[in-house]
Amino acid sequence: MLQQVLRTLDRAWDDMKSRNFGFPRFKKYYRMKSFVFPQLKGEIIKANQVKLPQLGWVKFYRSRPIPDGFVVKQARVVTRASGYFVMLSLQLDVDIPSIPFHGHPIGVDIGVESFLATSEGTLIARPKFFKSLQRKLGLLQRRLRNKKLGSNNRKKLNTRIARLHQKISDTRGDFHFKTAHKICDQGDSIFVEDIDFGTWAKGMFCKHTLDAGFGQFFTILSYVAWKRGKFFGKVNKDGTSQTCPNCDAHTGQKTLDVRIHFCPECGYTTNRDVAASQVIRNRGVNAVGQTVLENAC
Ligand SMILES: [Zn+2]
Repeated sequence: MLQQVLRTLDRAWDDMKSRNFGFPRFKKYYRMKSFVFPQLKGEIIKANQVKLPQLGWVKFYRSRPIPDGFVVKQARVVTRASGYFVMLSLQLDVDIPSIPFHGHPIGVDIGVESFLATSEGTLIARPKFFKSLQRKLGLLQRRLRNKKLGSNNRKKLNTRIARLHQKISDTRGDFHFKTAHKICDQGDSIFVEDIDFGTWAKGMFCKHTLDAGFGQFFTILSYVAWKRGKFFGKVNKDGTSQTCPNCDAHTGQKTLDVRIHFCPECGYTTNRDVAASQVIRNRGVNAVGQTVLENAC
């Protein structure tokens, strides 16, 4: 009987390991990150107070006014290293028109060597801050080993680690927003590669991809593009580095150390990543052009 139980446990454990889960543990109150009040009704917001079910009126700092006509539908209370936050979801009953393809098109290629390249020839370097912050994080995390479980010093160190995580995430977000605006400055319709970041992160780009947070960047880019009235589209990414953007000739697979695109057919020479972004732009324009024609018929 005992043998049987142990075997079952063993199997469950193996299964969890194979699915990349850690050892099971009990939930502690400090693991709680957020909770939601999914349905709010009536008057929720006063000048510096928010009314939460069960809790009543709670003082808060209102970072921005609620625009006219919007209704507060949901409140999420989040605890972060820098304090407690309440995130309000607002609702307004209008249809937001999507922005059609128009104006000057540009392509964006995200890369390993530089953070990204645009078809206008701009290369944006991978930010250095991440490396130094990451090193600092590693140092603090190693120190955790010497702190007794449940001790005050361990708690203090954990708070410092949480603050640093927060700082890394804030800095990254800031960089993403600034970069997105730079891209929007360059054109009216923006095309990027359609990448499944889930599988991509497991492959060769693993650490780099996660550091740079490309998935988050695309989300921010599409938001900034929408806000500034720019079209945002995704195109198939296959073989973007194997085609000449100038004459469409197939130039073959390049290894990662080849940094220059040179086309033997037409002689077009440019940076490898810039060439890829130009291919992305061309594909986008072709794809969108076709749908426009289809609609016209
Ligand atoms: Zn060519």
